Amino acid sequence: MQRYYTDPWLQELHTKILDSFAEGDRHLVVLEETIFYPTGGGQPHDLGSINQIPLLDVFERDGTVVHVLEHAPVGDEAYCVLDWSRRLDHMQQHSGQHLLSAVLQEHFGYRTESFHLGEDYSTIDISTPNLSEEEQRSAEQQANELVFSNLPLLTYTLKPNEQASVPLRKIPDLEGDLRIVEIEGFDYSPCAGTHVQSTSQIGLVKIIKCEKYKGMTRVYFLCGNRSLEDYRRKQKVCLSLGSLLSVSESDLPSRVALEVERKQELEKQIEELQTELMDLHAQSIVAREESPFFLELPKATIEEAQKQARSILNLTTGTVIISLDERFVLMHNQPNDLHLGQFIREKAQPLGGRGGGNATSAQVYFPDPDGYDKFSKMLKTDLL
Ligand SMILES: [Zn+2]
Repeated sequence: MQRYYTDPWLQELHTKILDSFAEGDRHLVVLEETIFYPTGGGQPHDLGSINQIPLLDVFERDGTVVHVLEHAPVGDEAYCVLDWSRRLDHMQQHSGQHLLSAVLQEHFGYRTESFHLGEDYSTIDISTPNLSEEEQRSAEQQANELVFSNLPLLTYTLKPNEQASVPLRKIPDLEGDLRIVEIEGFDYSPCAGTHVQSTSQIGLVKIIKCEKYKGMTRVYFLCGNRSLEDYRRKQKVCLSLGSLLSVSESDLPSRVALEVERKQELEKQIEELQTELMDLHAQSIVAREESPFFLELPKATIEEAQKQARSILNLTTGTVIISLDERFVLMHNQPNDLHLGQFIREKAQPLGGRGGGNATSAQVYFPDPDGYDKFSKMLKTDLL
């Protein structure tokens, strides 16, 4: 007997083991009665233990609920303990989905085409290419008002000749008896999952994101404890940012926008100062040295090194070689046929160097320090 249907609040159960056998490296058990819901209808299976042996999976095979255990239980008595927080979480998300789908259909005519209950969030795909911000807000508001109304969720079975008597939200492909989950007087859905007993047990329903998906809209949502956890996380983010910037939560957006603007302004100033500094550095180098100019700028980026090389060559004619961390940047403006890209290909690549360039500008990177050292020595003898 599937006690998860008749009493979804039952968390412990003494029952009998009807069948117990190995299959591959797993051990399977069939029970006289069970509180463990098997994967199905978009809802993941329950977890827990049987005789303190952890349950790994629960599935349905030919109408029988099969429990997968780490190893075989002893005897024919079974003491089942349900992982209640996981089950309650699944019931909150699943019942919340009924509520949200019903509201979207009732108020906007958007059908729910599919449902997925994930580990972090749940999604429904609804029959509209776009759900406006106003519609999202309105659907969320109405779903939560139904939560506050504490409507009972009823489950019952209808025979085929009784099915026309209720306004089913979705007509299933199945023939025969239908298990109906009713949000009293509001929504009637055929469903084989487990549900809470009243809408208030769903807790807060929160839409967190909507995106376009195959001509439909995928609505991401959270219910119950997941909404509370999400609120905690977001509050923590707001509090830590507020304390970092010394502003109240409501002033955060404008303050962050201001900080971003300031940062861009400062970056511009730094760039101008760097250019000035490089020009001064170039002047001092050209005043005391002759080409080829060797520089070490271990912390510079390639772009900064190239900028420094250009600032030197703006003042004089010659060749600049800048060594960075595991890398060289080379540049020249001499009226000769020196081709730096070709030089890298011929001299650096055989030493493991990766890079290249054109006649007047090139760069090379050495993953191996040995290649870097050899090329460094070669530069002074072969290039010039
Ligand atoms: Zn359901």
